[in-house]
Amino acid sequence: MATGKIGVTTENIFPVIKKFLYSDNEIFLRELVSNAIDATQKLKTLSSFGDYKGELGVMDVRVSVDKEAGTLTVSDHGIGMDAEDIEKYINQIAFSGAEEFLAKYKDTANSIIGHFGLGFYSAFMVSKKVVIRSLSYKEGAKAVEWSCDGSPEYEMHEIEKDRRGTDIILYIDDENKEYLEQARIDTLLKKYCRFLPVPVISGKEQEWKDGKYVDTDRDKVVNATEPLWTKKPSELTDADYLRFYHELMPGMEDPMFWIHLNVDYPFTLTGILYFPKVKSNIDLQRNRIQLYCNQVYVTDQVEGVVPEFMTLMQGVIDSPDIPLNVSRSYLQADTQVKKISSYITKKVAEKLAKMLADDRKAFEEKWDDIEVFIAYGMLTDEKFFEAARKFFLFKDTQNNYYTLEQYRQLVEPTQTDKEGNVVYIYTTDPAAQHSYIKAAEDKGYNVLVMTGQLDSHLVGLLESKLEKTRFVRVDADIPERLIAKEDQKGTGLSDLQSEIMTTVFTSQLPASDNANFLVAFQALGTSAAPATVTQNEFMRRMKEMAAMQPGGGFYSQLPDSYELVVNTEQPAVRKIIDEASAALDAQVAPLHNQIEAVNKEIADTRKDNQSADTADLEKKVADLRNDEQRIVSGYAAKQPVVKQIIDLALLQSNLLKGQALTDFIKRSVELL
Ligand code: ADP
Repeated sequence: MATGKIGVTTENIFPVIKKFLYSDNEIFLRELVSNAIDATQKLKTLSSFGDYKGELGVMDVRVSVDKEAGTLTVSDHGIGMDAEDIEKYINQIAFSGAEEFLAKYKDTANSIIGHFGLGFYSAFMVSKKVVIRSLSYKEGAKAVEWSCDGSPEYEMHEIEKDRRGTDIILYIDDENKEYLEQARIDTLLKKYCRFLPVPVISGKEQEWKDGKYVDTDRDKVVNATEPLWTKKPSELTDADYLRFYHELMPGMEDPMFWIHLNVDYPFTLTGILYFPKVKSNIDLQRNRIQLYCNQVYVTDQVEGVVPEFMTLMQGVIDSPDIPLNVSRSYLQADTQVKKISSYITKKVAEKLAKMLADDRKAFEEKWDDIEVFIAYGMLTDEKFFEAARKFFLFKDTQNNYYTLEQYRQLVEPTQTDKEGNVVYIYTTDPAAQHSYIKAAEDKGYNVLVMTGQLDSHLVGLLESKLEKTRFVRVDADIPERLIAKEDQKGTGLSDLQSEIMTTVFTSQLPASDNANFLVAFQALGTSAAPATVTQNEFMRRMKEMAAMQPGGGFYSQLPDSYELVVNTEQPAVRKIIDEASAALDAQVAPLHNQIEAVNKEIADTRKDNQSADTADLEKKVADLRNDEQRIVSGYAAKQPVVKQIIDLALLQSNLLKGQALTDFIKRSVELL
């Protein structure tokens, strides 16, 4: 029998371990089972090299709960330890400068364990006493028992033990009684040990008997020792991947496709990433990638390890090069981890490019479902954007798909404006914007469908990345002006007509707090619509962006701004213009002339003396204008066709609602 002090420089490390690691204390089981697996694997290796000549026998790892004794035991049949090994590996734990370290990192308990390989000692987080009983594989080795109650003092003596290997017996302390429940242990093993390479047995298989589950005498194996990602892709079928997916993500629909990662230089990494069908809310889909280190579960918080957009994917990544026990911030700062992240990005991009090249049709069929991943990747990852130039697809209203390059070639001849910018026209709602789309297409333009969740952001990004390219939503202007080509035709109105018609239409526009309307006139030919409502691209985008930001900001408070473009060549409009001229010119022309005269007087006065007082004159203009507007709007109110033209334009852009819609229908019937 021997006693001694554990080689820790600090007086008593265990209370520290307990305190700092309390919140995460369940990981002790992962640590102990991992050690047991390591010991097993080591012996297998020794045996395969002929350095161990004995029988291997059954090499499973057992986790057993004894509620009465208050113990949890992890047993293996691996290499075991003799007294010398225990002295070396358990007693002399590498603890140089422990106090200093603890002082510095007292908030990041996880890094304490990781840094010092405290794996075994994490048992003290949940135990009042820990016993090791071990028989080394070495010939003639003597079995030993080591025990320690959490003080730096341990006790060790020889024992009888016939089977090679190690039992770690934890006397669970009062605060952690949960670890004496088989169900709790099952949950933990499922979480951390599901894919360990050696069979892990805990409890018994159960069966349904006489109205309840009862233990059978069959051992319950908790893990799949050869998970799919460790196998060669060439040996696997689609059915294998799908089965594994459903095992990993119960209750999910089939994924769209997957990528099997397999690399051994410059780091080791295997894994399978699945692209799920994304339905709606992105955030709900996160935390579905599990990180493993040699088949030991580490975490499902993979931010930093995989690029952000890939957190939408599901699956597993296994790399011994990802440090096991470190805190998240440490993980993110680790250069190795960064390399892994960019490697994964590269691999995913390669796979997508290959899918497009191998089977374009199949890729197009998946496109609508995967677009959100790709858009997210392009928006958040510069490198991925560059790679995606090769496989990103535009879709038009006819469901044709184009790569960026193909689309450029398609529209460059017809959609280049007079400044040499190629204008990409898009719709965010093909049903609601149907008449605008039709009008643009009638002009020979192509219209892209940008209805994806992230497309409004993507439009901005593409505009900045693609050379000489501008995006306009199809209702941003009348078709003639969507792509500014040569100089526009004029308004086809005299000054006086213009003044009268502006009031005629403005006075009949709906009054609204959240929408501003401007009226403009344009000669657009006899067959174009009498009037069209357009929404300025810039203002709309600003508002959309602002709305997505928390708090909204200045732009989101502004009313929507629309323009009512009236086609002065359309026969019905022409008729209104002519009739208004006939009815109003005699009355309005004198007012119009007076206004011009007074305005001239104001200008002249100001020319002579910058700071001259022109308030009286200005009031005179305002009064004259009021008179003019009263006359014109009084006239306009009696012209149902004006309202009708406005309402038709509003209807076309889904702005005619409620009472206004009811009035429109009533008026339409009357006009019939
Ligand atoms: P780490 O596993 O990070 O080296 P641990 O504190 O968990 O740190 O273990 C220290 C050492 O004790 C291990 O490296 C191993 O040599 C030895 N050891 C622990 N558990 C076992 C076991 N079940 N069988 C054999 N050796 C073990």
